[in-house]
Amino acid sequence: MNGSIVVVGAGVFGAALARQCARAGWGVTLVEAVAPGHVRAASGDESRIFRCGHGEDEWHTRSARRAWELWHEIDPALVVPCGVLWLAHRDDGWEAASERTLSALGIPCSRIDPAACFPSFAGDDVRWGLWEPEAGVLHAREATKVLAAQAVDAGASLVTARARPDGAAVLLDDGGRLEADRVVWACGAWLPALFGGVTDLRITQQDVFYFGAGAAWRTPSVPTWVDYDAAAYGVGDVDGRGVKVCSDVEGPPFDVDGERVPLAAHERRARELLGRRFPALASAPLVGTRVCQYELTADTRFLVAPHPEHDGRVWLMGGGSGHGFKHGPALAEQAERWLTGAESPDPRFGLGPRVADRALRTAGSGVAGSAGIDP
Ligand SMILES: Cc1cc2nc3c(=O)[nH]c(=O)nc-3n(C[C@H](O)[C@H](O)[C@H](O)COP(=O)(O)OP(=O)(O)OC[C@H]3O[C@@H](n4cnc5c(N)ncnc54)[C@H](O)[C@@H]3O)c2cc1C
Repeated sequence: MNGSIVVVGAGVFGAALARQCARAGWGVTLVEAVAPGHVRAASGDESRIFRCGHGEDEWHTRSARRAWELWHEIDPALVVPCGVLWLAHRDDGWEAASERTLSALGIPCSRIDPAACFPSFAGDDVRWGLWEPEAGVLHAREATKVLAAQAVDAGASLVTARARPDGAAVLLDDGGRLEADRVVWACGAWLPALFGGVTDLRITQQDVFYFGAGAAWRTPSVPTWVDYDAAAYGVGDVDGRGVKVCSDVEGPPFDVDGERVPLAAHERRARELLGRRFPALASAPLVGTRVCQYELTADTRFLVAPHPEHDGRVWLMGGGSGHGFKHGPALAEQAERWLTGAESPDPRFGLGPRVADRALRTAGSGVAGSAGIDP
């Protein structure tokens, strides 16, 4: 037995941590205000890209690969094995750096002709494609529910209540009060409201668009694509939901508890991206939207750190920064070692100052026109 832990927030980070700790013998209480993977949680979308390529960053490349193993152990049906195709505009850019790191770590990748991967493709601006055959898509909302269910199967208690901190304890809106050896607040975009003076996460509006397309656009035969330098990505039609197109440019500041209406400028950019890259879909109808939020750290590295007070009993976990989902189970494995004290926390994920850098997201360099398009 490792002691007791309360994890607040059952998004991918909190649910994965609760599962990890319950399986490692902790007495776990998982507190969630709404439901695991609910519609306003960042983990509540249908799909999240799974990729190992992270430029020259070995830590995230290894973490994603470890998570790939773990997701397959958790439930292989959560993974859509469609591959990820990186569209390279430069010979020596992010894709070439990713290729070197992936190859050095023995993770499969190769160069392919992007035009061969899609029913319709326009790629005059694309020099080459980096193919990650074992990457793909995760059924995100379902995966979050499965993590929470597996935490409960391993002995965790799931409590539905909104929580707020009271010193090192957790106060519930039903009047309950929880104390434990460790309390981890994994509250996604709600962290700043709970710990405003402690975290400096920025919350931005990110809109997701789905377009209607024929059977030729079904995934897994159509791969996920990432245009890193243009800060754009998309997924083929998973489960008949429509072809997904997203801009990875940061949107405006966002109130997570307010109305969720996509911005006209975001829709315009999604249509432009779709029509420019896949001409046959230029007039595809919009069939669905989802308003989501990023919870951004300054350098897009995650936040897993003890609160400055409370002698290491209270921790904050979040800052998924638009790319955290896939790492969930691997980050939980790592965080559990930090919580036991078996390893010292990595200061790169701490609360200290960070140097602004968006590289780990797919937000690009701006060389292919990503800058200045969104509000
Ligand atoms: C548009 C978009 C696209 C993305 N694409 C990808 C991608 O392709 N690949 C990828 O790996 N990542 C991607 N991400 C990032 C990823 O989705 C997030 O990093 C991840 O889901 C964050 O998980 P989380 O558990 O920290 O937060 P959340 O999923 O938001 O969960 C936080 C939970 O805490 C609960 N909570 C909050 N406050 C309280 C409280 N006071 N009491 C009780 N419970 C509380 C909430 O109800 C919620 O369930 C994307 C994000 C967005 C927005």
